Amino acid sequence: MHETGPAGYPYEVVSSSWGSENFDIKKADQNEGRVAVESWISWETARKLFQMAGQDFDALKKAASSKDFKPVLLPAKANFTLRNRLREVESKNVLAKLEGSDPSLKEEYVIYTAHWDHLGKNEKLKGDQIFNGAIDNASGTASLLELARAYTQLKTPPKRSILFLSVTAEEKGLLGAKYYAENPIYPLTKTAADINMDAFDPWGRTRDIVDVGFGNSTLDDVLDELAKSQGRVVKPDVEPEKGYFYRSDHFEFAKKGVPALNPSVGTDEGHC
Ligand SMILES: [Zn+2]
Repeated sequence: MHETGPAGYPYEVVSSSWGSENFDIKKADQNEGRVAVESWISWETARKLFQMAGQDFDALKKAASSKDFKPVLLPAKANFTLRNRLREVESKNVLAKLEGSDPSLKEEYVIYTAHWDHLGKNEKLKGDQIFNGAIDNASGTASLLELARAYTQLKTPPKRSILFLSVTAEEKGLLGAKYYAENPIYPLTKTAADINMDAFDPWGRTRDIVDVGFGNSTLDDVLDELAKSQGRVVKPDVEPEKGYFYRSDHFEFAKKGVPALNPSVGTDEGHC
């Protein structure tokens, strides 16, 4: 159910992004094991549906915030006819590795991720039909390349090995990151952290840096220390209700127990 306030975007975004062709990682059963009908409905429609089924939407919503909540069956029926067309699309993650310098630690890994996809193109548009995604996520992609370049300029590489992972299909549901997390090239049990870069700041330096997902791992402390060394401050997620922590590639690593950091654009443009 879509509620505009907490989601941070209107229902039109849902219908335009998800109301057409959708993608998933190909499974052995051609994904036929997925639930037959999936629906994403507006808050208003949900409310009507509950009402028709004799349920009090607001009371249930309140009850659902408790741990003891038990799902309630909606006595409603619907018939659907669906015709699906399947299409296979191949896309690639790109991975580069800088070997660590400490023999006892180089089998451990720190991953930097940035998704290289954006929203493709719209052939109905006149003129420029390509959604270039300069911020989301050419900024992260450029940062990944620049970090990789800078790391290779160090006299001694870091103790742990560094992986630079450019993931595909983030906009289609974090699919590239999900694929890596499920089929890692280097063991996740030896992966110390994922640091994700998604939509960086093109407007210049800020005095603060926002730590989306603050409180999830001790990587917060590392970020805090580094920010301090630059005279900056770390701020926790300014809009945690929007669930940004669950909406980019690092989340696929966090789901598997890899500490994940998602630094984001600061808001204080004072000098630093
Ligand atoms: Zn993005």
